[in-house]
Amino acid sequence: MSEVQQPKKGGRGLRRAAGRDEVVKVRSVVADELRPRVSSPDSASAGSDSIGTAILGAGPAGLTAAHVLARRHHPGAVFEADGTVGGIAKTIEFNGYRFDLGGHRFFTKIEPIQRLWEEMLGDDFLTRPRLSRIFYKGKYFSYPITAKDVVGRLGLFESTLCALSYLWASRHRKAEAETFEEWVTSRFGRRLYDAFFRSYTEKLWGIPGSEIRALWAAQRIKNFSLFKALLAMLGLRRTHVTTLIEHFHYPRLGPGQMWEAFRRRLEERGIPVRLHHRCTTIKHDGAGRVESIVLQANGDATEVPVDAVLSSIPLSDLVLSLDPLPPQKVLAAAARLRYRELCLVALVIDDETPFPDNWIYLHDPGTRAGRVQNFGAWSEDMVVAGTTCLGVEYFCFEGDDIWELPDDQAVRLATDELAKIGLVDPATVVDGVKVRVPRAYPMYDLGYSSAVAMLREYLAGFDNLVTCGRNGLHRYNNQDHSMWTAILATLNLVDGSQFDVWSVNTEAEYLEEGEIVDGLLDVALVG
Ligand SMILES: Cc1cc2nc3c(=O)[nH]c(=O)nc-3n(C[C@H](O)[C@H](O)[C@H](O)COP(=O)(O)OP(=O)(O)OC[C@H]3O[C@@H](n4cnc5c(N)ncnc54)[C@H](O)[C@@H]3O)c2cc1C
Repeated sequence: MSEVQQPKKGGRGLRRAAGRDEVVKVRSVVADELRPRVSSPDSASAGSDSIGTAILGAGPAGLTAAHVLARRHHPGAVFEADGTVGGIAKTIEFNGYRFDLGGHRFFTKIEPIQRLWEEMLGDDFLTRPRLSRIFYKGKYFSYPITAKDVVGRLGLFESTLCALSYLWASRHRKAEAETFEEWVTSRFGRRLYDAFFRSYTEKLWGIPGSEIRALWAAQRIKNFSLFKALLAMLGLRRTHVTTLIEHFHYPRLGPGQMWEAFRRRLEERGIPVRLHHRCTTIKHDGAGRVESIVLQANGDATEVPVDAVLSSIPLSDLVLSLDPLPPQKVLAAAARLRYRELCLVALVIDDETPFPDNWIYLHDPGTRAGRVQNFGAWSEDMVVAGTTCLGVEYFCFEGDDIWELPDDQAVRLATDELAKIGLVDPATVVDGVKVRVPRAYPMYDLGYSSAVAMLREYLAGFDNLVTCGRNGLHRYNNQDHSMWTAILATLNLVDGSQFDVWSVNTEAEYLEEGEIVDGLLDVALVG
């Protein structure tokens, strides 16, 4: 028996939209600029004012979903609350500098996504060498770690203890690790956990590793074998596992360049991207069909009829914006989901190479910052020649001291912290800005998976409403997985396919390679 009372299903997705006439019952205003420029067999035959499919959010997932719709000649429009495309993967321009919210590597094992990226940017899709280190206990460790480095810096005694603790853990491994701490200690030993995982994880999530689900570790460091890493450290094996990637791709002007290219391509194909349009309400008939959405723009609320909704907005917001509202326990599950925020402090440095790394993890508990990016090392076209721009990342919760810290004080804190650990000379910091990033990370705390399961079951009762992306699925997805879920969700909607978007980026590597993927997407995405 189902736990959650769902809206009763009508038909499936867009294919059934042609036959329905409910949408004309909604009294709504469709501003001229919101009308689609492509007519669809569905909305045309319904004879309604429908804009086609509303895509909520213009981050990687929303833009990719719209790209698939455009290629299938389905009408639609993208609605984005922010004033820029790219979502968390956007690029910010500041006084002649460009920086990401964090640093965004483009790396994927999903061949069709790689081809799509290459096709969008051509020669502007750079291949960059990766150089990164870990700062811990006052020392800089190479990352990926090397045996010489670890033994040299931890010392022979501590390294021996790490090896013994690893051997002990491998003999006493629990069959099923439930928490992040259990997962890592059972594979690496407690001493390596304490040295290389504990402090960073606690900075990142704001809760102990014992309160974070093991799934996060499985996603982040899947395929990682300490044995293989040791062989690599000794120079006996080249590795291509998740955490040890030596090169990555990156757009010459930052990730936002990719998402601007998507936007241009969409508009050429007749799918407009409406910035500063926040979706506040999704109206449905109580029987499994969304009929219209309400958009807030320039202080005005406008209701527009739609054939379907493809959402990449946070899962909790999606559920809480439904009208009529879902049952109480579904609302409670939506309210149960938590997020971790990020404050990025960008510092303009009058020195081309304060350090050579693309980024440095700041594991040391002596600094509040968790990581620092050097954007000049990502792409020299992001910065003014002879200088660079650093991005100091502070993981936090909305409303805490770091979040609330006034911008000038945040710039001072970041400068002082980097100076203290010898990364910059404070006299070279000539400018700075703080950017707050709400909901940067969906949290895998102990109760999240049952809450997500309940929301998923409830949403399955809708025919023409699908969700995808990172926060849209409450899944720690990178850009490629966010895009991949968007593609699968869109195909489910337009073709009635049955891809399980919730299984992408789990340990099983569902639908990420192989014949089906190539057959399906080579045709559908590029060219
Ligand atoms: C610090 C950091 C570093 C990262 N590094 C990498 C990396 O190196 N490589 C990588 O591939 N990925 C990286 N990621 C992950 C990457 O940013 C995400 O996978 C990607 O941005 C998710 O895309 P999305 O479209 O699902 O969601 P988002 O990017 O969150 O986009 C959702 C969009 O929806 C909009 N929205 C929200 N509510 C509404 C509403 N009600 N109405 C209309 N619009 C709304 C938002 O404004 C946003 O633009 C990183 C993330 C972080 C936080």
